[in-house]
Amino acid sequence: MNSKNISYEIIAREIPSVIRNCSKCKRNTEFYCSEKFRVNANQKMVDVWLIYNCVCCESTWNYPIYSRVHVNKINSELHKKFMGNDKSTIWHYAFQISRLRNLCSDVNTEICYELRKEKELQSMMQNTTISIRSQYEFGLRLDKLLAEILGVSRTKIATFVQDGLLVLPPHVKPKSKVVDHLHIAIIGNWYADKLK
Ligand SMILES: [Zn+2]
Repeated sequence: MNSKNISYEIIAREIPSVIRNCSKCKRNTEFYCSEKFRVNANQKMVDVWLIYNCVCCESTWNYPIYSRVHVNKINSELHKKFMGNDKSTIWHYAFQISRLRNLCSDVNTEICYELRKEKELQSMMQNTTISIRSQYEFGLRLDKLLAEILGVSRTKIATFVQDGLLVLPPHVKPKSKVVDHLHIAIIGNWYADKLK
């Protein structure tokens, strides 16, 4: 039987907010991304920040992107994107979760996303590969995603992996985070097993 491939694309619908101390609220609060850069040039030295605001009091937190970098060291196309608040550039920095975690108390990665599939999984589908694309990585767990795709519980996903019905890439576990370009193989007639 020919093997088949079904692609799924995870489309983030919002930017993760961050949790950090607000000096005005005098406690940890949630800060949302304003989707605006702030660029400061002091002679030839440039600072670039992405601006976040406290949800309670609108106080500003500047997320440092470049600090005191010589203007010649910043690619001119990128500089234009900072100046024009280019959306994909903003999202690129706003999804640098580990960098943000180092700067804040926490990052709220429970964001809305859309799962776009090219076609439905067919009930008689055998030896199929599920390909996952995700432009932005935000810590979504693979078992949660596969449960959503296959319409089963997370426990079932773990069992399928254990039984070799679902084959994950080496070093990837059901509890691993979803990254771009993941390929998961469905072996045999998994649907028959699902219905048992
Ligand atoms: Zn505040």
